[in-house]
Amino acid sequence: MGKNKGARIIITLECECRNYKNDKKRKYGIFRYTTSKNKRNTPNRLEIRKFCPCCNNHSIFKEIK
Ligand SMILES: [Zn+2]
Repeated sequence: MGKNKGARIIITLECECRNYKNDKKRKYGIFRYTTSKNKRNTPNRLEIRKFCPCCNNHSIFKEIK
């Protein structure tokens, strides 16, 4: 007991374009990545640059709850 391999949790990353609600991009839905992180090593919200098919570009994906 008490010897877990860190605090690995599943998180969801969403592109910033989700904020452009009036944009036509909306019809493509919100693109999300699912990944995991170690809560102990990364207590803050994760931000990763990934390709977003909605933006058709690389953009910042931020962790959401
Ligand atoms: Zn996007």
